[in-house]
Amino acid sequence: MHQLPSYLQSGISPWDVFLEQVDRVTPYLGDLTGWVETLKRPKRILIVDIPLRRDDGSIAHFEGYRVHHNTSRGPGKGGIRFHQNVTLSEVMALAGWMTVKNAAVGVPFGGAKGGVRVDPRQLSRTELERLTRRYTSEINTMIGPDKDIPAPDVNTNEQIMAWMMDTYSINQGRTVMGVVTGKPISLGGSLGRREATGRGVFVVSAAAARRLGIPLTDARVAIQGYGNVGSAAARCFHRAGARIIAIQDMSGTLYNGSGLDIAALDAWVAQGNKVAAFPGGETLAPERFWELETEFLVPAALEGQITRDNAARIRTRILAEGANGPTSPEADDILRENGVVVVPDVLANAGGVTVSYFEWVQDFSSFFWTEDEINQRLEKIMTDALAEIWAAAEQHKTSLRTATFILACRRILQARDMRGLYP
Ligand code: GLU
Repeated sequence: MHQLPSYLQSGISPWDVFLEQVDRVTPYLGDLTGWVETLKRPKRILIVDIPLRRDDGSIAHFEGYRVHHNTSRGPGKGGIRFHQNVTLSEVMALAGWMTVKNAAVGVPFGGAKGGVRVDPRQLSRTELERLTRRYTSEINTMIGPDKDIPAPDVNTNEQIMAWMMDTYSINQGRTVMGVVTGKPISLGGSLGRREATGRGVFVVSAAAARRLGIPLTDARVAIQGYGNVGSAAARCFHRAGARIIAIQDMSGTLYNGSGLDIAALDAWVAQGNKVAAFPGGETLAPERFWELETEFLVPAALEGQITRDNAARIRTRILAEGANGPTSPEADDILRENGVVVVPDVLANAGGVTVSYFEWVQDFSSFFWTEDEINQRLEKIMTDALAEIWAAAEQHKTSLRTATFILACRRILQARDMRGLYP
């Protein structure tokens, strides 16, 4: 089982983590420091009630959010999360990380995020559709292809994006493909989008490993989370000759020191089986996961997983954050002291939104690229961003996280400064 995110125990919220990360970058902002407060205040927040008629005729209510954190560099962009623990603080932080992420890889978007506090596993398919459509309708005033473009996140997928696109289009009286990304290929989706986040995690991990002289062949990899991000990253590492020695998810911690057979595991999971019950490995006690000696550790589940409670026990060379916000600022300091290179979420998982950008551009022109073109462009954007951030970290003698924030926040605040204040 995952540990409960420590902020639920300690009272440190994801938004507090984001604020601390902004405070850490402030000394590097020079003339732009006067604008830094703008990053500490989301631009606008909508809280909605979603009444849902259950299949048995009763009515249940769910709370939903859409947050525009910052739109200085372009329209809002960021996913929609369906999860029983979604809070406003979490959605605010996720929106803030989108602002930084989009600026870090240079896609022309601001940052936004949405969520509904619901456990989608408790809903039937028809209930899930009604919930999605009503939520989309309630946030209708916030979204639009040149305003704010949602996408998938935890527990949302192509089908949910199709329902969102359809609902928005019906309300507009015409089909508007570009209002969401991460859609099915048949409805204006992009080739390579589904795998893009996990692929991007792999691309930056491999680029960091080259700089550190760590070979990929036979490298040991441990992954937390086997959803869209974790499983795609696992396939890329596996193809490159690395050994996936451990996978932890809600079902438990699966281990095989000689490397899990990822194709067999995928077939096992596709049949509806639990990861931890896979016969090609043994199970470990959950806390052992963090202590495994590896070359790569990829948290690809939820935020708040690596804190001062477990950071000192981590024995890896490169920690590549597939999840958003998995590491607390205190844990960042401990990892840095111990020589662990952290490739931060706002860079490592930016592959998803990068291909979302490609999807949005393709929808505008109704001209679609090949999967090879998508993957090559993705790889170039991610490796260029890593190179630039690596150089900034060396120049300022900071972690890669602070270096990413330095480059990204300068771009955001320069745009803010050029736009000026109205009135
Ligand atoms: N939810 C993903 C993220 O956290 C993708 C967002 C997008 O494609 O807009 O980066």
